[in-house]
Amino acid sequence: MTIRKDPYTTDTIGKLIDGEYALTLYCEERHNGYWCHWYKKLDLEKLALKLGRDHGSMHWDLVPHLWCLKCGSRNVSLRLSPPTFRDPKTGQWRQRRESDTGR
Ligand SMILES: [Zn+2]
Repeated sequence: MTIRKDPYTTDTIGKLIDGEYALTLYCEERHNGYWCHWYKKLDLEKLALKLGRDHGSMHWDLVPHLWCLKCGSRNVSLRLSPPTFRDPKTGQWRQRRESDTGR
């Protein structure tokens, strides 16, 4: 486990990267009553190149730039994941498993 400087706020893309957060895009669109359910872990480095590290990372900062790659809907939501999680079996804090984030 590497020592890193945790930012107290996560209001810019750069701070999310520095804090090793993961941001996942979820499609909230329904088609004939069925949820689209498409989701993708965002490539924050790529997003930072496009929008800049100082670009806001809040919902309304990012959502205008994002859409579902399956159905094309702009009805999307974002979920922020911290770099650690509590193991449900042991209750211990662990590093996020890469398999959880779809990387
Ligand atoms: Zn969709």
